[in-house]
Amino acid sequence: MALEKYQAKRKFNKTSEPKGTVKKKSLSRFVVQKHQASHLHYDFRLEHEGVLKSWAVPKGVPEEAGIKRLAIAVEDHPVEYINFSGTIPEGEYGAGTVEIYDKGKWQTLDGDLEKGSMKFNLVGEKLKGEYVLVRLKDKKNWLIYKK
Ligand code: MN
Repeated sequence: MALEKYQAKRKFNKTSEPKGTVKKKSLSRFVVQKHQASHLHYDFRLEHEGVLKSWAVPKGVPEEAGIKRLAIAVEDHPVEYINFSGTIPEGEYGAGTVEIYDKGKWQTLDGDLEKGSMKFNLVGEKLKGEYVLVRLKDKKNWLIYKK
């Protein structure tokens, strides 16, 4: 796990996003950040193996069962990003506003991300219960839904 892709996309003298480092230990936190960029989307991030595994979810993580949403895998983000909110300046990568939509804890129930299929539990303010993330054939695209 590394942050080269994340760091290469950003100029840390222009954006207030954290540069970050890969951590040796992981807590089991998650965050959903509402990102009003050129297109509104929600960034779903799971703290895992020292980084935040990240997906852009155009329509947001479903809060009710029976709704499947596309989740596009994006570059790992530093754990420090879990607390980030603010404005990314015009002209910079991801320009727009970021606000924390929900956060909490998560745990694996079955499967794992590396295998492309994982059942897990979310304990947030808005998102609670059993969820599934499953990778589609093209590798970048996943589905997320509530059980
Ligand atoms: Mn985003």
